[in-house]
Amino acid sequence: MQIVLVDPGSSREEINEPIGIGMIAAAVEQELGTRAHVSQYFEPITGLPTSDEIRQSDVIGISTPLGSLRTVRGLVAKWKLIQPEIKPVLVLGGVIATFAPESLLSEFPEAIVVIGEGEEAFTLLVKLMQEVSREHWREVLGEASIPNLKFRTTRGVVSTRRKNVDLSKYPAPSRPFLKQLVSLGGIVRAESSRGCSYGRCTFCAIQHKYNDKIEWRVIDVPRIVQELCELSAAGVRHPYFTDEDFMGADPTRALSLARAIANEKDRGNISGDFSLYVDMRVASILAGKTAHHPSGVTVLTALQEAGLREVFVGIESGAGEQAKRYRKPATTDRNLRALQILRRAGLSMDIGFIFFDPEMTLQEAATNLTFLRSSGLWFHDARLTKEVRLEAGTPLVDDYQQKNLIAGPLDVDQLTFPYRWRSTQVESVHEVFRAWEAIEQESIYRLQAATRGEVPTGTQRQERREALGTIRAVELDALEMLITLTQQGGDPLTVDLSKFSRRRGDLVCMALEKFL
Ligand code: SF4
Repeated sequence: MQIVLVDPGSSREEINEPIGIGMIAAAVEQELGTRAHVSQYFEPITGLPTSDEIRQSDVIGISTPLGSLRTVRGLVAKWKLIQPEIKPVLVLGGVIATFAPESLLSEFPEAIVVIGEGEEAFTLLVKLMQEVSREHWREVLGEASIPNLKFRTTRGVVSTRRKNVDLSKYPAPSRPFLKQLVSLGGIVRAESSRGCSYGRCTFCAIQHKYNDKIEWRVIDVPRIVQELCELSAAGVRHPYFTDEDFMGADPTRALSLARAIANEKDRGNISGDFSLYVDMRVASILAGKTAHHPSGVTVLTALQEAGLREVFVGIESGAGEQAKRYRKPATTDRNLRALQILRRAGLSMDIGFIFFDPEMTLQEAATNLTFLRSSGLWFHDARLTKEVRLEAGTPLVDDYQQKNLIAGPLDVDQLTFPYRWRSTQVESVHEVFRAWEAIEQESIYRLQAATRGEVPTGTQRQERREALGTIRAVELDALEMLITLTQQGGDPLTVDLSKFSRRRGDLVCMALEKFL
C-alpha cells in the first residue's frame, strides 16, 4: 500500500520540522511493516507531491497547519482530477482538521477528517483499507470503531468517539528531513509528554485538542533519551521540545530525564554542545520540595547540567484582572519570582504575553507596560504586544459568545473569531499600533526566525536576540506613547509615531545586513 503524507509548512519564514506526519509515518511503519510504503512531503524541503505521485498512492494524508488552506485546496484540486476507480483515500488531519472539522467536511465532503491525535486513527484506517476492497471500505468505515474521525456517508456526517493515544505504544517519529533542517537552520522538534496538568486557561485550546480532558501523558524516559542520541548523531544541536507542560505533574520524572541526558553526554552519545528548549509553567518553576518530589529549582539545575538553554514561560499578562479573565493561576508576584529564578540561573527565556484583549481597559494596558518595564522584559526579543487569539475550541469563545463580543464567523484558515472591543479607546490604540507594527513585520519575522532553530553558535544566537530585543523596545516605546497620550485625552489616530518609525527602520536595516 502506497501512502503519501504531506505537510504544507508554515506561511512564516520559520522552518519547523513536521513532526506530526513523522509520527503517523512511524506508527504506520510499526503496525504494517513492509505492507505499507510511506512517502513524506514537506513543502519547504521537498515541495508538494505531483499529480502523478498522488495518483499512484492509495491514501493521501494532508496535515492542515494554520494558514495552509490555499495549499490544501491546491492538493485536493489535483486529487479531484483522478479517475474514481483509482482515486486514493483523502485524509485531512492536524490543527485545522481538529478545530474546524465541519468546515473542512463541507468544503471537502469526500475527505475523512482526523480530529486530535492521528497515530491510532490513521493506522486503523489504513489497516481497514487493506482488509476491505476499495469499493466497499467506506460502507464499513462507520462500523469499524476507529476513534477520532469525522466523515460523510449517505446517511449524514458520522463522528466517532474521541480518544487520546497510549503514548507507550508508539515509536519515535520518522524523520526524513533532518539533514536539510539542520543545514537550513530549521527547528527540530522533540517530545517528552502531551497535555497540560493545569489545562484550564480560557484562551488555550489544549483541552479540545486532547479529547476535552485535563490529562498529562508521558513518553518513557529511555525512548526520549534514545531519540536525543539519534538526533545528536544526525548533527542536531538545539531541539525544541513540543511539550505544552514539560515538567507536568511529575518533577521526579523530569529529574530522571535530565540525569539520563547528562549521562549520555558523559558517555559521548550526545554531543557536549547539545542544548534543550522546553516549555514550563510558572507553578513548575516555583514548586517547592515535597516528601515525594524535588523542587522546581532542583529540576531546573539538573536540566541545565543536561544542556537546558531556554525556557518558554506563559506569563500572559501583567494586569491582575486580565490574568483572571484567562483563569491563569499565577499572580504578578509569582511571575516575577519565576523570571528571577530563570535569570539567576543564566537561562534564556521565551515569553508568552497577551498584551491586548477586547475586554481590556486603558488602565490595564498601562499596567501591562509598567509590568514589562519593571520585570526587565522591555528589551526582550519575544513579541510582547500581541492581542488574544480567540481560537476555536477554547472556553473564551463560549465566554465571548455570552457577552456578545464575537463579531463574525470563524476564520477557518487562522482558526480565530473576530471580536468587538469594549473600550473604543483601547480599540483605537490597538488599531493604530497594529497598522504601524505591520510596516516592518515581514523583516522582523525573518530576524526572529534567525534567532531560533539550529543557529551555529550560542554567541551568534545571543547577538541576534539582542538586536531583535532593541527593535522590540522601540515598538514598546511607541505603544507607551500611544497609551499615555490617549490616557491624557488625545486621539490615537493623530499621534505622530515617525520618530519611532525612523529608529526602528534603522535598527531593522542594520540587523538584516549583519545577520541575514
Ligand atoms: S496555556 Fe499553558 S498552562 Fe494554560 S492550559 Fe494551556 S498549556 Fe496549560
